[in-house]
Amino acid sequence: MTDEPAPVLEAVDVTVHYPVHRARGEIVHALEKASLSLRPGRTVALVGESGSGKSTFARTLALAQEPTDGRVLLGGEPASARGRRAYARRVQMVLQDPFGSLNPLHRVRYLLERPLRLHGSVTGREDLERRLRALLERVRLTPPERFLDAFPHELSGGQRQRVAIARALAVEPEVLLGDELVSMLDVSIRLEILNLLAALRDEEHLAMLYITHDIAGARYFADEIAVMYAGEIVEYGTAEDVTQSPAHPYTRLLLDSTPDPDRMEFLAGRRPDGTDGVAPDAVEDDYGEPPDLVHPPTGCRFHPRCPLARPSCATEVPPRVDVTDRHWASCVLLVAPDKEDTHGRTTTREMTS
Ligand code: SF4
Repeated sequence: MTDEPAPVLEAVDVTVHYPVHRARGEIVHALEKASLSLRPGRTVALVGESGSGKSTFARTLALAQEPTDGRVLLGGEPASARGRRAYARRVQMVLQDPFGSLNPLHRVRYLLERPLRLHGSVTGREDLERRLRALLERVRLTPPERFLDAFPHELSGGQRQRVAIARALAVEPEVLLGDELVSMLDVSIRLEILNLLAALRDEEHLAMLYITHDIAGARYFADEIAVMYAGEIVEYGTAEDVTQSPAHPYTRLLLDSTPDPDRMEFLAGRRPDGTDGVAPDAVEDDYGEPPDLVHPPTGCRFHPRCPLARPSCATEVPPRVDVTDRHWASCVLLVAPDKEDTHGRTTTREMTS
């Protein structure tokens, strides 16, 4: 990866713990030493179940959540909540719910004018009008005059999400953080929005974080995938490596319960058997619920659900192991394969091939 552009936004060993019951001293271990780098013109997908820490990570990268430990670097410099407005000019977030994220009392014109004016980049009425139209054209809402004076409730879900993306683009950011931004949309327009985001990434060299519970969609859209389980990144690599040669048992379970992306069925939210649903539900059905992060499991956090767990997995934190120079995972099987698991089955290195 030597010829890659330098990261715009980096998280280095970011940890977030929330107090939930001060008297009992209970805390939620929401994020543990999570690191990733976002580079211009590239997308990293952060994949995992609900409650795995994905949104906490995104909020921390947007400076909406103070990390308990670790650092967020923008352009190599430590990010600070004191410079939040300057930071927001460079790092924008688009949320899952286009219905809730746009004020229903305002027309699209107002919703887009605000960030343009707040960030002080408008020179006059004529310039404002030109920028408003250009913004709508960038998100393929054309002709712009059809949308500028509409209220959010007069738009479809996909059109609303395009307005939300246009609002984020109004400040000409370098980084776009997308939190489940297609999951609430009608299945027929998910691909349109992903194609729009891919075009923006390629044409405008935006660095993107794409948060999703859908690993098949991540494969389609992202350059790299980070798989998150119970607040920890357990596997990281190119989208191709992670989906074609998954090294962590949790990633394999996600993939096994996901429709074949080559058939593009994930866009219709269907499993291979034709029923509706996406991967994490299926994992939960088959392997139990995600752990309580107030009392996270000892050792490997995945061990209570892992079909390949060994006795040592309950007590020893698995090491991070490089599978290739572009792909790593945290699992003891990558260090010492060919031993018995807790169910008496033999595990082998075949997991990585
Ligand atoms: Fe499963 Fe053990 Fe690997 Fe964790 S370290 S994923 S419990 S085999």
